Amino acid sequence: MTGTLAVFAPMAWLGPGRHLRDALVVADGDQIVFAGHAAEAPESEEQIELDGFLMPAVADRHVHIALSDPGAALLGGVTAVRDLAWPPDEIFPLADASEGPSFNGPLIRASGPMLTAPGGYPTRDAWAPDGTGREVSNAEDAVAAVSELAARNAGQIKVSLNAEAGPTPDDATLAAIVQAAAEHELPVTAHAQGSGQVERALGAGVSELAHTPWTERLSDDVIRVMAQTMRIVSTLDILSFGRDTPEVRTALDNLRRFADAGGEVSYGTDLGNGPIPAGIHVRELLLMREAGLGPEQIAEAMMRSRLEPGAPADLIGLGQNPFEDLGSFENLLLVVRAGRVVSAVDET
Ligand SMILES: [Zn+2]
Repeated sequence: MTGTLAVFAPMAWLGPGRHLRDALVVADGDQIVFAGHAAEAPESEEQIELDGFLMPAVADRHVHIALSDPGAALLGGVTAVRDLAWPPDEIFPLADASEGPSFNGPLIRASGPMLTAPGGYPTRDAWAPDGTGREVSNAEDAVAAVSELAARNAGQIKVSLNAEAGPTPDDATLAAIVQAAAEHELPVTAHAQGSGQVERALGAGVSELAHTPWTERLSDDVIRVMAQTMRIVSTLDILSFGRDTPEVRTALDNLRRFADAGGEVSYGTDLGNGPIPAGIHVRELLLMREAGLGPEQIAEAMMRSRLEPGAPADLIGLGQNPFEDLGSFENLLLVVRAGRVVSAVDET
């Protein structure tokens, strides 16, 4: 028991549909026990008066944390990440360590290696150390690989469908991956790159794309079906790094139609890939807005979980209201992970 922590703020967003004035969030240990109007709150030991805007902390749902700085990610308001491909003997112990209170970084949920065809992406790519890809040559291999990853507490299964960088798993192998993952109650996320690969993922029942598709404009019909069954992790800025490129234009076009059709978008940066800064990445948010997402959709895509009793006590405080200006995410006043204050700016 670490005692209770109460954060008061004149403005807050507790989750979809819950804008509040004079809000108080109370954590007991690593869990929230109260989130609502200050007047209705219980007593607490430590109290923080935030002179700004309180909201849930951020989950980055696509990172390669070993290529970045976990401590900087946490200080930048990201209290949870999903690592979508790294050698298992490094990433699973790190993920276990991230559960502990002394870990200097966000909570890490890892896929372990990407499942790929022999010689497929990323087995020959410079960024990926040996073991980042796990080669599976048939359905039997695929089932064995998924079982091993499930036993190591993988958070999801990542499959490589990158036809531009080598062979991809055949349809039978892909189907076996999806089925084995379902038996272990693990979602499957795909790196789909090259003509027809998104359609293959969709047809196989993959539940998420790890990137907004950028190699081709998808048809409206495909987008409509995707919006019913798949989630997309944004990763827009890695296609442009702040510039204007044909790749980011194609991705924005796909994402705009996907979101219009009611598809669910998650915030993810592919942190570790190129010069993406650790912490909340405002350029990614600006691109999500350019794809037509509204401020509440963006906030929902970013949040680790809504602030309500029983939820993890992960919060951030900002100097201004981010619903009026996304740049407010660059003015972080407070970061709390698991009920512990990671950083707090003293305004006085
Ligand atoms: Zn990645």
